Amino acid sequence: MPGFELFGDKERNEVKDVLDSGVLMRYGFDGMRNGHWKAQQLEQKIAERMQSNHAQLVSSGTAALTVALASAGIGAGDEVIIPSFTFVASFEAILALGAIPVMVDIDDTLTLDPKAVEKAIGPNTRVIMPVHMCGSMADLGALQEICDRHKLLLLEDACQAIGGTYNGKPLGSIGDLGCFSFDYVKTITCGEGGALITNNETFYKNADHYSDHGHDHAGNDRGAESHPFLGFNYRISELHAAVGLAQIDRLDDFLAIQKKNYTILRNALEPIDGVSFRRVPEGGVENYSFLNFFLPSEEITRKTHAALGAGGVDACFYWYNNNWHYYKKWDHLRTMKSLAPVAKEVLDGIPDYPEAHFKQSDHWMGRTISCLVKLSWGEEEVVKRAEKMASIIKNQL
Ligand SMILES: *Cc1c(COP(=O)(O)O)cnc(C)c1O
Repeated sequence: MPGFELFGDKERNEVKDVLDSGVLMRYGFDGMRNGHWKAQQLEQKIAERMQSNHAQLVSSGTAALTVALASAGIGAGDEVIIPSFTFVASFEAILALGAIPVMVDIDDTLTLDPKAVEKAIGPNTRVIMPVHMCGSMADLGALQEICDRHKLLLLEDACQAIGGTYNGKPLGSIGDLGCFSFDYVKTITCGEGGALITNNETFYKNADHYSDHGHDHAGNDRGAESHPFLGFNYRISELHAAVGLAQIDRLDDFLAIQKKNYTILRNALEPIDGVSFRRVPEGGVENYSFLNFFLPSEEITRKTHAALGAGGVDACFYWYNNNWHYYKKWDHLRTMKSLAPVAKEVLDGIPDYPEAHFKQSDHWMGRTISCLVKLSWGEEEVVKRAEKMASIIKNQL
C-alpha cells in the first residue's frame, strides 16, 4: 500500500518546482510562484479521477473528515454513526465538532452492518459514516437507501480504499461527501495530507472557506477578503501537495501492482480448507491494499497470526488486539478521558460505552487476519511469500 515505497524523480521534480519558486503556501503570492499552483492542480486531478464536481485538499485525512462534517453543518449534539472497526480519526473528527460518535457493529464486509445502522438511528442522527477499511467497502447501496429513507447524509471514509469502486463509481464519490488521507502510509501520499470530494456546491464552498479561517477567497488580496463564518486552519502546504501531484498520476499503476500481488497471495490461500475471505458487497471492486481473511476460531487466528510473524511474514495484522483500530482498546473514548472538560452535548448524548459490547463485531474481528499488500515486492518475492503463508496457515488448522 504505501506510495512512498516507489518515490522517484516525479516526486522530486514537483517538490523542486515549489522550492525553486520559494512559495510554500497554497494561497496568494501570485507574482512569485512562477505559475506553480500545486494544491489547486492536485484538487483538479482528484476531482477528475474521482468523478466528482469538487475536491478540497486539507492537511490530513482526519482534517478532511472534520471539514466534511463541518461543511454539512454538523455540530453540537448531532449524532454520527460509525463502525466499531475503524481508525480513531473517525471519532476524533466527530468529537472535535461537539458531535457524538455512535458506534455500531460490523459484519463480514468488515464495515458497517446496515441492520445495525438502522437500529442505531434516533432523532439526533444526522450522518452515516461508513469506513472502507483495508481496501474494501461497505454495502453502499443498502446504506444509501437508509439515508434516503431517514433523510441522513452519507459520508464515505475512503482513506484506506482509494481507487476501489462500487457499481463502477470511485469510492468516496457515492456519498454526499467522501474523504481520503494522503498520510505517509496510504496508497498515495503527500507525507501528510487529505482531501474531501463532493458534488454539493454549498458543502464545497463551506469546506473551502472553513479550512482556511473562513476566508471567502474572493479577489486576490488575502488581507482584504471577508469571513462569512468562523473557520479554522486545516490548510495543506504546497510542498505536501507537490508530492501528491506526482503520486496521483501513479495511482492506477499502484492499483495494478496491488491487484497483481493480492491475486498471487489470494490464489495460494484459496484452496485451504478453513480459510474464507472477507465479503465484498455485490458491485464492489477492492483497491487490493490488503488481503483480509477469516480462520475458523479466535484461538486458531491468534496462533496463526503469531506463527506468521515468527515465520518472517511481516505486515500481517490482527486488528482484534490493536490499540488504534478496534473499540476494545478505546478506553479513552469509552470513558471520555479528555485533557479538558467535554462539551455538555457530548456528555449528555454519548452512548453507554463502558457497558457496550459489539458481539457480532467480535465474532468477525476475532477471526480476521489482514495482510498488507506492498508495492515494492518483486514477483518472485510475492510467490515465495504466498507459499510460506499457505504452509504456515495449513500447519495451524
Ligand atoms: C489514515 C486514516 C484516517 C486519517 O488520516 P490521517 O491523514 O492520518 O489523519 C482516517 N480514516 C482512516 C480509515 C484511515 O485509515
